[in-house]
Amino acid sequence: MRFLCVVLTFLAIVLSIFLGFGMYNDSKDIERFEKEAAVFEEQSELYRAEINEITPKISALSEEKASLQAEIDAIKRRIIYKTQPTAFLTFDDGTSYHTLEILDILKENNIKGTFFVVGTQIENGGTASKEAIKRIVEEGHVLAIHAYEHEYNKIYTSKEAYFEDFDKIAALLKEMTGLTPKIVRLPSGTYSARSFCERYAGSSDVYYDIVSELYARGYTVIDWNVDTEDYTTATGVTNIINNAVSGAKTRLSREYKAAVILMHDTADTVKALQGVIDGVKDLGMGFEVLVQGGYVTRQIAETEKP
Ligand SMILES: [Zn+2]
Repeated sequence: MRFLCVVLTFLAIVLSIFLGFGMYNDSKDIERFEKEAAVFEEQSELYRAEINEITPKISALSEEKASLQAEIDAIKRRIIYKTQPTAFLTFDDGTSYHTLEILDILKENNIKGTFFVVGTQIENGGTASKEAIKRIVEEGHVLAIHAYEHEYNKIYTSKEAYFEDFDKIAALLKEMTGLTPKIVRLPSGTYSARSFCERYAGSSDVYYDIVSELYARGYTVIDWNVDTEDYTTATGVTNIINNAVSGAKTRLSREYKAAVILMHDTADTVKALQGVIDGVKDLGMGFEVLVQGGYVTRQIAETEKP
């Protein structure tokens, strides 16, 4: 009996030590887990901070990548003209019933043109002018902005005056076609526009203000590099053709074999157009339209004040 008591006491002692040790072990584990959790928490806090820091960098880089890609695409589009002779037929100062005749000729030849239109012409030209705008878009030509009022002594008096006029033609074209044309040609071209700004606004700074604002708004300004001189009836049909073809020919020996041919919305231009097309085709040139990121020619290359 006494022996049994001793044995039981001994077992009780052993059991309690074992249980106590087990509990001790459990609390050790909990302590360890808590420590580990704290370390994980600290680490994930660091990762979160790192993610927060990296995220804007990633979006800045992907923006940079997109703009570089756009530049690469633009270079690819332009580089073509180093080997592929191309003419861009451009028609300023429309639209009118002449534009409809120009469109007919282009259609017969399966050629697309670029039309730099004038607001007052569209508004005062009756149904023909409005029909022409509709056809330019429907038949796959490029509708481009020239001015609402083709008045140098109004639009070149200040940046505000220019954009008051510009916004008016942009709104008119948007209303008529639903489009926002992005190609712009300044009335009389960039070189003369700068002179007009000196004369009417008192400073060439106004010219640079206008052009840099156009670019800031996402527009592309394009002049011409072949002048047919069809703005005056003194030139005559034969000379319009000769000016276009000989001018285009000079572009073939340039780095970029691209001829941006300036024509106007006139009766003589209508008469000369088939001759221009045939002559330019004989030079081995194809025809394209002016687009953003494509071929650009400008008398004043800078888009910011130098
Ligand atoms: Zn013009």
